[in-house]
Amino acid sequence: MPDRRTDIGARDDLRIESSRCKRMRFSESDCSRCIDICPHGAVTLEGGLAIDPERCRGCLLCTAVCPVGALEHNSDFAACMTQLSRVPEPVLGCIRTKESANASLACLGGLSEEHLLALIHTLAGSLTLNLSVCGDCPNSHGISEIKSRLEAVSAAGLDCGACRINLAESVREIRYRDESVDRRSFFKSFGSALIKSAAVVLSRPSEQTEQRSEYACKRVPARRELLNKTRSELSLELTGLIREHFDSCASFDQSCTACQGCTTICPTGALKTGESDIPPTFDQLLCTGCGLCREFCLDGAIRVLKNASNLQPSCRTAQAANSG
Ligand code: SF4
Ligand code: SF4
Repeated sequence: MPDRRTDIGARDDLRIESSRCKRMRFSESDCSRCIDICPHGAVTLEGGLAIDPERCRGCLLCTAVCPVGALEHNSDFAACMTQLSRVPEPVLGCIRTKESANASLACLGGLSEEHLLALIHTLAGSLTLNLSVCGDCPNSHGISEIKSRLEAVSAAGLDCGACRINLAESVREIRYRDESVDRRSFFKSFGSALIKSAAVVLSRPSEQTEQRSEYACKRVPARRELLNKTRSELSLELTGLIREHFDSCASFDQSCTACQGCTTICPTGALKTGESDIPPTFDQLLCTGCGLCREFCLDGAIRVLKNASNLQPSCRTAQAANSG
């Protein structure tokens, strides 16, 4: 009997870093995003963040919602982008459709909004996501997730990149060509400075990947890192839209005692110890909006707001400093 986990997806493609989980860092946190989205009941939090190998089907949906990178997938997305960039009108598939795709991930359910944004603004022409076998896959629920993420990116006005993403739910919609052009020909044919620079940026190894698993280690989740790399190549107008859609702002009110406890609990390093008697400093690019600092603050002094248009004056200042 075939191993369904291997057939479908890839529990081994899940990277678990329990010490980053909000629930493991702070017992009163009520985050349950991974549990809520997992259709197989495979995520457990009792006694530590864990995935039940008998239940997990490798859909990777949990990796697309965890706000702190406690669950991430191991797919080499930079390599995947490079493969896709070599082919005009490429097809991206999963482990089940890799024979008819120019690049593949374990399961396309792991494509978060940040991944979709990177594809839209880094590739050119059209990219087809091969969903033709998803209908009879135990991970079929991933289709609706991908659609809603694409809709969210579109609703934020961020689907205006050089690449259009098509969702192909039947083989008839897929025009897969098993032909590659070399990198030079590709860049010549499209002539896009953005693609060149973004491919280089996305291929650059992370400076943070060596430092993992320690509770005290600060690390920006891979999705956030990808987002920051993508936006670094885009126009001011687009980075403004990205800020409104993806960014959050932590701000402190008068009740802050400058105890600096939030700098310890923050898993990303967005909060840094400031001078004594003043609140920590805040780096918006590193913040995922997970809200752990707000939950943790005994004095209720922290607000974490999504959407830059709602920002407090103090946060606008930090934001200006970050973008400058
Ligand atoms: S989504 Fe992430 S932070 Fe939240 S409970 Fe799950 S693993 Fe922990
Ligand atoms: S600053 Fe607060 S909301 Fe932002 S990543 Fe750190 S703990 Fe989460």
